Amino acid sequence: MNGTHKYLQQAEKKIKMNNKSKTVALINLGCTKNLVDAEEMLGRIAAGGSTICQRPEDAEVLVVNTCGFIDDSKKESIDMIFKMAKLKENARCKKLIVTGCLAQRYSAELKNDIPEIDDVVGLKNFEKITHLTGKLKKKKNDNNNFYHNNDDWRNRIRLTPKHYSYLRISDGCDNRCTYCAIPGIRGTFMSRTVENIMEEARQMAFEGVKEINIISQDTTSYGVDIYGKQMLHVLLENIAEIEGIQWIRLLYTHPRHFYPELIKTMSVQDKICKYVDLPIQHINDTILEKMGRKITRKSIVTLINNLRESMHSIVLRTSVIVGFPGETDEQFQELLEFVKKIKFERLGAFVYSKEENTPAANFSKQVSKKVKQRRVEEIMLAQRDIVLENNKNLIGKKVSVIVDEKDTVTGGLIGRTYGDAPEVDGKVFMNDHQINAGEIREVVIANVNGYDLVA
Ligand code: SF4
Repeated sequence: MNGTHKYLQQAEKKIKMNNKSKTVALINLGCTKNLVDAEEMLGRIAAGGSTICQRPEDAEVLVVNTCGFIDDSKKESIDMIFKMAKLKENARCKKLIVTGCLAQRYSAELKNDIPEIDDVVGLKNFEKITHLTGKLKKKKNDNNNFYHNNDDWRNRIRLTPKHYSYLRISDGCDNRCTYCAIPGIRGTFMSRTVENIMEEARQMAFEGVKEINIISQDTTSYGVDIYGKQMLHVLLENIAEIEGIQWIRLLYTHPRHFYPELIKTMSVQDKICKYVDLPIQHINDTILEKMGRKITRKSIVTLINNLRESMHSIVLRTSVIVGFPGETDEQFQELLEFVKKIKFERLGAFVYSKEENTPAANFSKQVSKKVKQRRVEEIMLAQRDIVLENNKNLIGKKVSVIVDEKDTVTGGLIGRTYGDAPEVDGKVFMNDHQINAGEIREVVIANVNGYDLVA
């Protein structure tokens, strides 16, 4: 909620107030892909004649953009819907609209179970959001189907700080990992064309973006659906030529879809951060097979070695799932030992969440909540030692840092190294007062503060 509040403050500044229009507040939850959906929806809401406001209490129309990926995110979304529903009783709110993944997945249930909800809008049905919040009339074909509109970015109201943004290059996923509900929610894999993405990237640079974070559900597959071959390296080369763009970061890559030209482009192109978000999910071959990851331990190890040999300074982020159905103590130990041995610079561990309409939900030998919790804690404890050790090794070294914001507590600055993605990774706290947000400078690391650095 705090993050959303910060974003909405910026949205309000970007949109001219218009007293005659409806006031709309959007509360966004979930991942960066949801954030881009929210930004595109805000663009449509504003284009429809409404005024975006910062505080939900001031809004006549409330839009909750939900996440429905796993149990925890569903719970957070439902809690937020109930919280906003209360504003229909004791604030200005006349209409409550629920959008996003949860809306796509449980449209009927939401309408039946929470009568305060006036409308449920499935993913990408932005035409509907325009007339529901604004003055435009409902169109005949305005139903709850998927559609892919490559031009939604044109009205997009970016909520991130001016100097960085998320660039979505495709949506949907064809991988069908057995635990994952995303393909059912977001549909099949759909790439945008290189030309369309480049137009948006140039616009970002024109507006002052220095760091582009490339997102999708499966970034490394970019292009296979529309060009018949992987085209991420070509896209990266094109983006790197844009004047003003200084850092390009790859998020959500699938290890199975890494390919030699991509590694070569990453290693020779200075603007591409030597950082990869590479979710491996597990390392035991039996579990990987049951997860439907279509990759083996051997291939994952080969890829990691290849990446580290090609780019000595590379920072690897991964995510793993513990407590997948049938995961034995031995298989979990194999994962734990692997994490300790490989020493990923960044790692997120998640407990397996049994999701409706996914094959793994029907697998036998579901692991108890208690065991899953213990395993996730063990992994995170091991990772904490790795991060602390890595951070200590940086003391006295020079690193490039992008400045994100002023530190309101100390009056100094807060930034990130090339090895830290916005929102998810560590921060660098600096004593300097003179550098503007978005500037990239070399600083000397003086100390470590847990997962963060002091320069
Ligand atoms: S690659 Fe697997 S985990 Fe990722 S979105 Fe696709 S199906 Fe889900």
